[in-house]
Amino acid sequence: MDQLPQEPVESAELDSMMLTIKSFLEHLEYSLGKDKYSASRYDIYNALAYAVRDRMVERWLDTQQAYYNSDQKRVYYISMEFLMGRTLENSLINLGLYDEFKEAMTLLGYNFETIVDDEQDAGLGNGGLGRLAACFLDSMATMSIPAYGYGIRYEYGIFRQKIIDGAQVERPDNWLRYRNPWEMDRQEHLHPVKFYGRVITTTNREGRTEHNWVDTEEVMAMAYDTPIPGFRNTTVNTMRLWSAKSSREFDLKFFNEGNYIRAVEKKMLSENISKVLYPADNVIEGKELRFKQEYFLASATVHDVIYRFKKMHTDLNLLPEKVAIQLNDTHPALAIPELMRVLIDLEGLEWEAAWKITTHTFAYTNHTILPEALEKWPIWFFEQILPRHLLIIYEINNRFLEEVRQKFPGDNGKLERMSLIEESWERKVRMAHLCIVGSHSVNGVAALHSEILKTDLFRDFFAMYPERFNNKTNGITQRRWLKKSNPLLSDLISEKLGEAWITELFELQQLVPLAEDHEFVARWQEVKKANKACLASYIARHNCIKVDVDSLFDCQVKRIHEYKRQLLNVLHIITLYNRIKEDPDIDMVPRTFIFSGKAAPSYFMAKLIINLINCVGNIVNNDLDVRDRLKVVFLANYGVSLAEKIFPASDLSEQISTAGTEASGTGNMKFALNGSLTIGTLDGANIEMMEEIGRENMFIFGLTTPEVHALRTRGYNPREFYQRNPALKKVIDMISGGAFSPGNPDQFKQIADNLLNQGDYYMLLADYDSYIACQDKVSELYRDKKAWARMSIINTARMGKFSSDRTIAEYAEEIWDVKTLAVEATEQHCLHEGACLDHKGHTP
Ligand SMILES: *Cc1c(COP(=O)(O)O)cnc(C)c1O
Repeated sequence: MDQLPQEPVESAELDSMMLTIKSFLEHLEYSLGKDKYSASRYDIYNALAYAVRDRMVERWLDTQQAYYNSDQKRVYYISMEFLMGRTLENSLINLGLYDEFKEAMTLLGYNFETIVDDEQDAGLGNGGLGRLAACFLDSMATMSIPAYGYGIRYEYGIFRQKIIDGAQVERPDNWLRYRNPWEMDRQEHLHPVKFYGRVITTTNREGRTEHNWVDTEEVMAMAYDTPIPGFRNTTVNTMRLWSAKSSREFDLKFFNEGNYIRAVEKKMLSENISKVLYPADNVIEGKELRFKQEYFLASATVHDVIYRFKKMHTDLNLLPEKVAIQLNDTHPALAIPELMRVLIDLEGLEWEAAWKITTHTFAYTNHTILPEALEKWPIWFFEQILPRHLLIIYEINNRFLEEVRQKFPGDNGKLERMSLIEESWERKVRMAHLCIVGSHSVNGVAALHSEILKTDLFRDFFAMYPERFNNKTNGITQRRWLKKSNPLLSDLISEKLGEAWITELFELQQLVPLAEDHEFVARWQEVKKANKACLASYIARHNCIKVDVDSLFDCQVKRIHEYKRQLLNVLHIITLYNRIKEDPDIDMVPRTFIFSGKAAPSYFMAKLIINLINCVGNIVNNDLDVRDRLKVVFLANYGVSLAEKIFPASDLSEQISTAGTEASGTGNMKFALNGSLTIGTLDGANIEMMEEIGRENMFIFGLTTPEVHALRTRGYNPREFYQRNPALKKVIDMISGGAFSPGNPDQFKQIADNLLNQGDYYMLLADYDSYIACQDKVSELYRDKKAWARMSIINTARMGKFSSDRTIAEYAEEIWDVKTLAVEATEQHCLHEGACLDHKGHTP
């Protein structure tokens, strides 16, 4: 550690390097109380992270001060999920400090990659929705938009997945165990959040009805702030996550009862609200604790927004001019009645004024049309937990239904369909209806999805408020999903095009002519091969499977869900396996099938599909006839960091959901950006990718959305497809007959039963033929390595549209009406600089 650089370095650079080393060593010693002998690997990581964080803090303070001074409109992105992954490397890249810190650690004798690998993923999300929120934060900071992300600081993020005997086993994700160096707790930013109690309604002297919510239990929401640096600008935005702490009032109430242990127990229970992320993606778990989490986020955030607004303003009618709140799905929808409550009950506004402010402030993003994912909360939850909000929702509904009656007189069916209340055996609040009525904007996340909202799911609302509906096709940040995750490809691209693509993704179109340049094509292939070798070594270490780097890496990585049709992929694998068994000498393009993804712990069929994948792998991988032409790999614990390893190494991206079910998809974009070719249905953003890339450069198959509807209406009989196609019949018979579960022949019967006797809701059998034919074309193209590489380059080159920078620019312009605010770099704050200047270059 006392090593000094041997080579002559520019003196300014040397000074900077010495400060970096000094900062690291000081944090190790003074922040963590360790020296080079006693430091654990996590101490090394934490000391490095603190040194990096220090370099962000000045810009962070400057940014926040600039927002305050300019009093520009701000964006609040509220989301129950932020799937951030790791922060260290991303921060270094955005701050432009990557090389310096890497060299500093190397000089100290550490392996930079190892340290980076010791960071825990911040997995505070399930999948696409949470990752979108994370990409948006990166884009908003990079584009200098005054923005905040608001969420929950779960103590346990998405569970860690293990595969034991082929089955998913869940383990807790104790991500804060070795501390989280990126967050700063804000003891002073506390908001009380009320639950339970009852409402007392009175009439005051002026004849105004007043509502008093009393006898409530309070939980405190405490803020933890994480800096979000933009790419090489001076903007550092904030992600504020709320953690539940018991309130002092709470303490008084329960400790005065005299039973000390019981009081402590109750105190702990109240802090459970922010304990754990619900692990279901695209399906709701109607649990009381989840309901309380949603209100906890909504309430704390609304109060924080109002508090910040009031620092500069007194007239709450101006709120929509200064604040835009985006609801990431309906999960934070309770913010709508909460803002109404604050404006009316606490601020004394009239209903009409409060409603105008509220609807002009909120905008809602829908993420799915799957019925099982549409949130509906039982009325009795509201009666018990949020009685005042129920009254507000009833009032919103009364006024809204009156509006419907005026516009569509005599249409009772419409009233029933559009009501915020579902009148079933158990009355429920339809949260999507609340969001549409309470917002000025409703958007889907891809063109097809937004059309389905208008013509199908929300057609009554579209007839009522056509101007509210719009589309914002999702995107991904190229800083993480190319620059950080694929350094070899990034460097090759930057060598040819310069670095403009990092903030202007359309620059990649300049790669198109290079697809004809033999030398460039060869280097493109080398990069892909190197990335594949890297993933192959990961597979060897984690799965003990040796895979052929020259085989076609065919990847399907995403949450396991029936609508995403991992099972269709499995049907293809078994089809290829049967071809080999029928003719062991068949000339077949070798493929490595790579799966990764978590199933919701309570989703039986999804877990059974994981099991099937692993059992098929067991048979196929160990069959001598196969002669290594097929390998099936299931990589455990899919998350952001594993995703970053897979996308750069993939040849083929599987995006094969039933048409009309995947709202957008963003995994599809990450693959194509990294030069994978897509096999996919005309679903979600695949359609827009095809428009950009060209149909001839993708592998499109299967029914279209209208065809899916038509077939359902006509009456879909999966058995017809089964009887008609002997190859398909054989595959399904093998699954149900126990060919892949010899010890337990009935293990996968239910899967076959679903397909044949339960209606095959996602129409795998209807798409099977077309899928297999398309896969055969994929294999044919793969034989021509040059043609494949050319197409791969075209795919990357045409991905400009799918930067989340483009998505955010559209939200900012068309929904939020916010402007960018370039933060001026002030003088370095004396506190830091002054202290350092005295010790130039001196290391302890
Ligand atoms: C991008 C991403 C997703 C979303 O993938 P889809 O294929 O669009 O469902 C899910 N999880 C992680 C970790 C991701 O990075």
